[in-house]
Order: sequence, then structure tokens, then C-alpha cells
Amino acid sequence: MSRFFSEKYADLEPYVPGEQPQDQEYIKLNTNENPFPPHPAVVEAVQNESRRLHLYSDPECRDLRRALAKRTGLREEQLIMTNGSDEILNFAFMAFCDRHTPAVFADITYGFYPVFAQINGVPYREIPLKEDLRLEPKAFYQTAGTVFIANPNAPTGYALTREEIQGILEENSYNAVIIDEAYVDFGAESAIPLIREYDNLLVVQTFSKSRSLAGGRLGFGAGNPELIRDLEAVRYSINPYNVNRMTSAAGIASLEHDDYYMKNSKIIQENRRWAGQALKKLGFEMTDSMANFLFVRHPKADGETLYREAKKRGVLIRHFNQERIRDYNRITVGTREQMEQLVRVMEEILGGMA
Ligand SMILES: *Cc1c(COP(=O)(O)O)cnc(C)c1O
Repeated sequence: MSRFFSEKYADLEPYVPGEQPQDQEYIKLNTNENPFPPHPAVVEAVQNESRRLHLYSDPECRDLRRALAKRTGLREEQLIMTNGSDEILNFAFMAFCDRHTPAVFADITYGFYPVFAQINGVPYREIPLKEDLRLEPKAFYQTAGTVFIANPNAPTGYALTREEIQGILEENSYNAVIIDEAYVDFGAESAIPLIREYDNLLVVQTFSKSRSLAGGRLGFGAGNPELIRDLEAVRYSINPYNVNRMTSAAGIASLEHDDYYMKNSKIIQENRRWAGQALKKLGFEMTDSMANFLFVRHPKADGETLYREAKKRGVLIRHFNQERIRDYNRITVGTREQMEQLVRVMEEILGGMA
């Protein structure tokens, strides 16, 4: 730390993204990227748009919001576009939390939430998941704070039903409730249809996971127009050109080829089922994941060792050195071939330990 670093960040513990090693070719199952490339029309749209890079992007993202409105059945004024969904999450911490309105989230959830709280100087309260790592909706009733729930949750993969979300919205009518649906396209129910009824709901989604656009950085918030206007005030105070031209073009082209992505999502769900079965046969235990990852542990091997041994064999998975989940690893669901290689590697590791 230099002697110039602001004291307001003295205690900051930055988010640690999953490794992106350059030293060798790994089977990368550690950051929940989509194994399938973007649709060719997306690549073409990006190439075409790059010719206009000398011009600023549209700060209102009109074309993209129009396309997304059509796809979600929402109105354009119910949507805000951002540079990945991490950005809209940060905006929500800025817009809807303060000294008197703490952020409230689960003890085991997306690791960025406490970081956003810290950097914005906002107090936060963690609500423990149950012993089995499921979220108890009633524990999130009457929170007197701004609620952040990843649904499906990360890194457990468990999902709440729309009805359970509705209960949380009902019981927090004085609080904003942010539902982070980064993984919703892999089999869970979206809360988007509840936006019409609940003015305290903000749904957050990303193009990074189900739409193969992690490197493009595109996310959005969906909610009541008044909520969206607050978030727009924050966005215009930070970076009105937060979504660049090429990403915007990529987003529009992705939405035009939605069936390609939904078909890929079905394949990933099938691979999740297959890999889950195969790992169970090797003695693994796992949560009932509705996301594009499995969250697994083995009674005979600690999580850190499995992670290290898999890396030695060219397979990257994600271990979290965090209380309650140290035994686990989160494994992204990739192609069938990648899952077969993962299972072979795990079999070898466990064989060597017996
Ligand atoms: C991946 C992820 C995000 C953010 O992804 P972006 O690439 O910033 O859109 C947000 N929330 C959760 C729970 C995630 O896993």
C-alpha cells in the first residue's frame, strides 16, 4: 500500500476472482464460464461494430434494451444495462444501502457481496444458511435491510422457488430485495414475473454464464421504473458509457439467437446430471445444484487436496477456503468430454489415496 492510499480503504479485502492461468492448457472448470462459444452471428456483429469504435456508445443502450424488453416481456424503462452484473450489484449497494440500511445476505453466498458492502462503507449482516446449506426463506423475513439473494445460490447451487421469493418480498415491503439470477437459465425459476406486483424487487441477470459472454461484460437489472431511475442516477454519476459498442452489439445478436443458448443450457443440464451420477459412484456427496456447476465433497479427501491434485492433472476447479465449506469444491459443468476427463482424474486421485 502506498502512503497515498485513502484511509477509507484501509480495511478493504478485494474480491479474489478464480484463477485464469496462462502457463498451460487446463480443463477450466473453476469460473463457471460456458464451454460453448458465442453464436457466429455474435462474432460477426462484434466485428462489424468495431468499425465504429471512434464513436461513443449509446449511453441509453436503446437498441439493446428494446431487444431485451421483447425477450423478457418487460418495458424498456424497467431495464438498466451494465458492464457485467457485478456492476449492477455494486450500483444496488450504492443506491439502496447506507449507514441505517445495512445489506443483508447469506453467510455462504457470492463472495462479492461483502466486498461491495465494504467499498461502499455499508454495514452488512450475514444470515446463516441451514446446516444442509439450504436457505431458509423465513430467516429473510423483516430484515430491516436491503436483501441480496443469489438464486440459484453460489456456490451451493440450491434454488428457491418463485413462491418462496414472493414470500420474502411480501415480508420486506419496506426494503429493497435484490435477486441475483446469474445462474437462473440452468433450470431455476426467474422472479422477473413478480416485478409487476412488487416495487421493492430488483432482478439482476448476466450474459456471462448462459449466454457465453463472460469476456464481453454484460449484465442488467430489471425492476420497477422508479428503482431503475435511482440506479440510472448512480450509473450516470460514474460511467454513462459503461456498456461498450461491441458488447452492446453482441448482446443484441445473442438475444436474436436465444434458442442456440437455451439449447446449450439443456446440454449443460444433461452434463450436470451425468457428471453428478458419475461422481456419486466415486463416493462424492453434493448439493442439488440448479446452476452450471456442482458443489461436491468426498468423505475421504479434503477439499484443498482434491483441488491441488486435480490442478496437477490439468483440471482446474474452485476451492473456497471458507468456514463451513472447506470440504467442498465447486466444479463448473462443461462439455461431456470435459466431464469425462474430470471423472477420470478424480478416480485416479481417489485411487492413489486408498
Ligand atoms: C458470475 C456471477 C455474477 C457476475 O457475473 P458478471 O460476469 O459480472 O456478470 C454475479 N453473481 C453471481 C452469483 C455470479 O456467480
